[in-house]
Amino acid sequence: MKFHLPILILIGLLCILSVDGLANADPTGCPDPEGLTLQVLGSGGPIADDGRASSGYLIWIDGRSRFLVDAGGGIFLRFGQAGARFEDLDHIAISHFHTDHSTDLVALLKSGYFSNRTRALSVSGPAAGGPYPGTGDYLQRLLDQDKGAYAYLDGYLDGSAGLVKLEPVEVDPGLSNASRVYTDPTADIEIFALGVPHGPVPALAFRIRIGQRSIVFAGDQNGSSDAFIDFARGADVLVMHMPVPENISGVGRKLHAPPSVIGKIAAETGAGKLVLSHFMARSLENEEENLQQIRSRYAGPLVTANDLDCVGF
Ligand SMILES: [Zn+2]
Repeated sequence: MKFHLPILILIGLLCILSVDGLANADPTGCPDPEGLTLQVLGSGGPIADDGRASSGYLIWIDGRSRFLVDAGGGIFLRFGQAGARFEDLDHIAISHFHTDHSTDLVALLKSGYFSNRTRALSVSGPAAGGPYPGTGDYLQRLLDQDKGAYAYLDGYLDGSAGLVKLEPVEVDPGLSNASRVYTDPTADIEIFALGVPHGPVPALAFRIRIGQRSIVFAGDQNGSSDAFIDFARGADVLVMHMPVPENISGVGRKLHAPPSVIGKIAAETGAGKLVLSHFMARSLENEEENLQQIRSRYAGPLVTANDLDCVGF
């Protein structure tokens, strides 16, 4: 069979387009290719009994996976399922160094080795406290060429061996004012961090502003901070974690906000939309009862997250 040259060129173009389309294919039908999307990578907690990945969120801007918040166990898989690309990431924010928020970071870094990325990548997180390392030390302990558990990836510390340099940005959770951890002046994007009360664990909340739109990740916290109310005020989307039920007490209450407190915070901050996540079997057990505690205090739109869900804003 003979083809004319223009037809061959056309077939070639179609092949290139379809391959590119496949590379970015997303079985979940999201994110929005032209707009802002929160995609939940992990909506679960630290126990492997809820069928969900641990904490992780992507912010997509115009179809590009720009920001990752948290990297708990399971988000490595979800990152790939979402069609996200390591080379598109502009910043990674880690709320704290509990396993369910941080253990898949190194798996993602190994995956990134196979990407075409050449530019450095900033990683923000809390400063050290108690048995928890600071963000810079966390990376050092993982990747150090002498003592790191994954010394074979030590190029991430200095940008050698074909790896990109990671630039840690540490925030003291004891500061009363928010700290800016990332800025892109040309695109009018800023990310701020503020310490939040999570028992004795150094922990942060993040606020990402993209032009006139804002999304706040409350992180793991017990909901007792007035400074957080100011920090989160007027967000288009407020992501709050609900790992505990209303009747929680003891250590669980010191670490986490029960549903009634979540509802109060969402109302006080005037959240445009509340996304509940970080569920555990114990908070899913009487889910409707827990949600009622929130709805009786917060009248705005409420989304209960599942892995890979997308929320536009
Ligand atoms: Zn957690």
